[in-house]
Amino acid sequence: MKKNDIITLRIEDMGVDGEGIGKYEGCTFFIKDAVIGDVIEAKVMKVKKSYGYARLTQVLEPSPVRREPECVCARPCGGCQLQALDYEAQLDFKARKIQNHLIRIGGFSDMSKPEIMGMDNPWRYRNKAQFPFGTDREGKTVAGFYAVHSHSIVPCTDCLLGVKENQMILERVLAHMKKYNIPAYDEKNVSGLVRHVLIRKGFSTGEIMVCLILNGCKIKAVEELSKSLQEVPGMTGIMINVNRENTNVIMGTELRPVWGQTYITDRIGDVTYRISPLSFYQVNPVQTEKLYQTALEYAELKGNETVWDLYCGIGTISLFLAKQAGRVCGVEVIPEAVEDARKNAEINSIGNVEFFVGKAEEVLPKKYKEEGIRADVIVVDPPRKGCDMAALQTMVQMQPERIVYISCDSATLARDLKYLCGEGYEVRKVKGCDMFPWTGHVETVILMTYCGDKRK
Ligand code: SAH
Repeated sequence: MKKNDIITLRIEDMGVDGEGIGKYEGCTFFIKDAVIGDVIEAKVMKVKKSYGYARLTQVLEPSPVRREPECVCARPCGGCQLQALDYEAQLDFKARKIQNHLIRIGGFSDMSKPEIMGMDNPWRYRNKAQFPFGTDREGKTVAGFYAVHSHSIVPCTDCLLGVKENQMILERVLAHMKKYNIPAYDEKNVSGLVRHVLIRKGFSTGEIMVCLILNGCKIKAVEELSKSLQEVPGMTGIMINVNRENTNVIMGTELRPVWGQTYITDRIGDVTYRISPLSFYQVNPVQTEKLYQTALEYAELKGNETVWDLYCGIGTISLFLAKQAGRVCGVEVIPEAVEDARKNAEINSIGNVEFFVGKAEEVLPKKYKEEGIRADVIVVDPPRKGCDMAALQTMVQMQPERIVYISCDSATLARDLKYLCGEGYEVRKVKGCDMFPWTGHVETVILMTYCGDKRK
């Protein structure tokens, strides 16, 4: 077998990123856009001894769980991986993904398939979108999404995961750029101006904010652009973020207000949150509420507990738990997010919370050594790479009765749980939450309790 060979195969499984997996002459192939149960024709792209990659060229027998992708750009766009898979089958795929990681990486051999909380309407759920800008082959300025594993832009101003207003905003920015001959940023030559447009909407308040991320600090005729954007229903803030670095990091650190507020407000449950452009905020508010409810239920708070919320962002979980706890302490590395967190405590008149700026793996050990802090419950919600060992070690030393672990990557979650279970904790409950329908990602919530050191 060699590159460009045409093969026919049945898709028998799906990989962690949602790619189809099938065998041909003993060789395992990974094929994007192929769905479990499909019989397909594919072109070999790369082949090694026991595995290879191929490109779907034709679906010969569609799987019973295959559906027509809703988006016209579903295949080239790198955003969604599962648009050709039924929603129910997606949920099953995600539950199996969590289960497999816990078994294979975590060593929890008797783990059953977890329950997974899905959405009733899995479209237009994202409250945030970041559209890269660029120039196509004909020299036209385009906005859209990066293609799979690349930085070439697939033009798309109406992503079906995002809010309808995105399109109106992008078209106004594109028209302004055309009128004044303002170039999009060019990564290769490190030139041009408009890099990204970030849009956020508070689903419960309707507030919308637009942040133009520029390779510079101003844009021509900014007043005119601002006026045009103010016509978008719900607009409450327009700002510029300066990013002159030659980097993949989207946002720079300098923020310049153009019009209105430099944040939006939103509500989850009965807590109001203020969100700045630089702060992390969960992108799917409908599912976030279910996620936090589960975390609250797992924390089993009676009212007098001390809770630590590590990787707390703008304090969303801390404040959600605070009313049922004695005291909550949050730790977060981004100073702006901590500022938001403190402000959020104030807005909601919640007095029993405190926030610390710094890395969880530095703040927690330091506070434990110097002040002997303790916790009844520790909640962690780390980024994809999971918890740092120093944070996990201190958690074990603090020996909280319960640990609630929220994770956006079940592989690193499984790794961390394996460590905690070796140190006296046991996994009690596992639940999946579909925060990102049509993509291969899934959020997991875990309850662990302390059962004593079995090695003693
Ligand atoms: N719990 C919050 C945020 C979760 S996202 C919520 O539900 O909204 C993870 C957060 O961890 C981000 O805000 C990120 O800035 C922060 N973070 C990343 N690395 C960190 C570290 N080493 N220590 C503390 N916070 C960190």
